[in-house]
Amino acid sequence: MTRELVALGTSSQVPTRSRNHNGYFLFWDDERLLFDPGEGTQRQMALSRVEPREITRILITHFHGDHCLGLAGILRRLSLEKVAGPVHVYFPASGRVYFERALAACVYEAVTEIVPHPLKAPMVVHEDERMIIRTEKLSHGVDTIGYRLEEKRVDRRGQSFAHVMDTRACAGALALAHEVDMLVIESTYLRTETKEARERGHLTATQAAELAVQAKARRVVLTHFSQRHPSNGAFMAEAKSIHPDVITARDTRRYAVPPPTSLPL
Ligand SMILES: [Zn+2]
Ligand SMILES: [Zn+2]
Repeated sequence: MTRELVALGTSSQVPTRSRNHNGYFLFWDDERLLFDPGEGTQRQMALSRVEPREITRILITHFHGDHCLGLAGILRRLSLEKVAGPVHVYFPASGRVYFERALAACVYEAVTEIVPHPLKAPMVVHEDERMIIRTEKLSHGVDTIGYRLEEKRVDRRGQSFAHVMDTRACAGALALAHEVDMLVIESTYLRTETKEARERGHLTATQAAELAVQAKARRVVLTHFSQRHPSNGAFMAEAKSIHPDVITARDTRRYAVPPPTSLPL
């Protein structure tokens, strides 16, 4: 069974020559989850050889443009491809107006059944016999929530994945990251920009790695990089000195979710 992350875009705020706006696609058995589709997500999916018609769920952390400006395009695309759905869309309840605008942003024939899930974190977002998805509140200045997906197993700890952005270090981020197998976490700034990170509600690479250590997260995928740092090198150097298993995400690359850390329960 494939459990793999595709980094569609890794830039905060402004797309650059090498980084698109955010976008993260998770293959999880027969689920295809799209997190935070920023502007240009359709094009990044084409470059990454990921099919929009396969999307089962779309999960939005907050309604800053770099995390949602691609939603309108994706919703229209699903109908264009005559996808029946249902496709579930999760987002902070306070941002419902932005979701509705995205749904009605242009002229098209709405074919796909879209099921909106306005959320008030913390809560269980979805649960079936195979997995559970929950959300926690983050600390960013606007209403922002993170997500954690966990496999349900009786014989051992289930494999898990967490999506944490945008945020300062906070209890919600720690809870999502707790002993998770793959932690995708924002790392907008470097240590020298700690003050700015705090003021703007973001993390430095150092803070992201420290949070991962504190939470005992196994593999850390850093992303959401500021345009002022065109290379991933400094983010890697900072984080790697703190956590042993760090990836600095690159657009269109695939990263396997590592197997569960621990032995049977
Ligand atoms: Zn952002
Ligand atoms: Zn933001």
